[in-house]
Amino acid sequence: MAQSDAATAWTKRPLRYLLEETPTFVTIAELATSRGLITDPNGSKILQLARSLAEHPRVHALSITDNPGGHAMLSADTMGTDLMFRGQDVIIHLSCKDWNRNALESRCWMLASEGFRNVLALSGDYPVTGYHGQASPVFDIDSVGLLKLLSEVQGGHFFSGAVVSNYKRFEREVMPQYFKLARKIQAGARFIINQIGYDARKMDELLKYMVLHGLNVPVMANVFVLGATAARYFHAGKIPGVTVTDSLLALVEKRAASPDRGRAFFLEFAARQCAIARGLGYRGVYLGGHLRLEDYDQIFRMLDAFAPGDWREFAREIGFSQPGEFYYFEPEPDTGLCSTQINREYLRSKQQPPAASLAYRANRQIHRLAFEEGSAGFRAGQALYQIVEPSLKLARALHGAERTLKALSFDCRDCGDCSLPEIAYLCPESQCAKNQRNGPCGGTRQGLCEVGDKECIWARAYDRLKAYGEEERMLEGPVVYRDGALKGTSAWANAFLGRDHRGKRPG
Ligand code: SF4
Repeated sequence: MAQSDAATAWTKRPLRYLLEETPTFVTIAELATSRGLITDPNGSKILQLARSLAEHPRVHALSITDNPGGHAMLSADTMGTDLMFRGQDVIIHLSCKDWNRNALESRCWMLASEGFRNVLALSGDYPVTGYHGQASPVFDIDSVGLLKLLSEVQGGHFFSGAVVSNYKRFEREVMPQYFKLARKIQAGARFIINQIGYDARKMDELLKYMVLHGLNVPVMANVFVLGATAARYFHAGKIPGVTVTDSLLALVEKRAASPDRGRAFFLEFAARQCAIARGLGYRGVYLGGHLRLEDYDQIFRMLDAFAPGDWREFAREIGFSQPGEFYYFEPEPDTGLCSTQINREYLRSKQQPPAASLAYRANRQIHRLAFEEGSAGFRAGQALYQIVEPSLKLARALHGAERTLKALSFDCRDCGDCSLPEIAYLCPESQCAKNQRNGPCGGTRQGLCEVGDKECIWARAYDRLKAYGEEERMLEGPVVYRDGALKGTSAWANAFLGRDHRGKRPG
């Protein structure tokens, strides 16, 4: 038996080494913790599975979720510590929904002190339940801000990962997700896992987009093993950002009616997805779902039994796209995957974008004249606020006028650290459920926010910027952190006097 085949927890190589220094096709198994103690029946069952996977030679790392779907579950650290002391490399999920930046920083130090190295940085699903009522979301910072924070802890102690939600329907969702991916990599993401999805062409698109744009980090393909319950759940949109189309659900229902409730079919379906990932050039697979130990073995056995070129046929079968779905590349007719030709209609639309609205044009003009650094208006604003600041009465009067005007125009919440110019004059405090300032979260569904039915502000911003040919640069620039100390103060004064996030930027 080859040495790698005989690997057990203590002899397994770290994830960082495998992804950055070897060509190994890596397998990561995702484990969702249970509600309650780890000694409870459910907790013990998951721990037992985790320990068995730690001894499994084909599983390189175990990835432990953080309150997935917005539900409170046992902290990832409890199981993570047990596994780490067995020599198993683990990935701890860290999301921004339940922790503010101080708690996250403290948690980073704790994880580093305890010896954890791999962290998956997430914005997180909006909380949907809680003890005696729904928990209040935090979203003090987002996944991009967290990645930067992680990259600065202990001189690069962490090997940080991030997620890209590439299975989106519309251009105005897909493109901002790709721009955000670039921003995540710039902020410190060293490996990427894509969202759950069932479309080989989209899988191909992601890798080709990354090559074209020089985004050179290893990508793991998310393979969630379906069953009827999970498919119905996904189809109903209960997990933000995950789509199961009508045709896939119909297939799942048909197979689930068989005596084994479709088990054999679903495992083979997953094995085929793994083969597609390997054939396309993903660096490994990220296996999720309600699996037993023997299910993992079954998937590995089938994967090993496929002939080298079989994945191309599988790719033609697993193409469950949404109606009218946008693809960045033209299709390649022979394979059903992507060619390297960028979508012609998309390129045409960039040449002839729809005209911007009058209000947006006016906001840009006002900004250019009065708020753009270096403009005469900006210098006048600086001078005015320097004079006004010492007088409490005058400063209050000006702030009151600003508040009224911006509340009427933008539904301003007086955060004092304004991001309107960066999000095409859409307020992230009043119109984004997660207050995202560094790009869209992955939770949108057909362009709509995962919370309520309003349009995602980042999709709207994309449309507005496209009218000026500026959409590709929408997420360029330093990471934005809203300063909580400025809440309830004048954002205009803070902008003119260099106290907001733009003023604090180096240089
Ligand atoms: S100051 Fe803050 S709350 Fe007001 S519009 Fe700007 S971002 Fe929104």
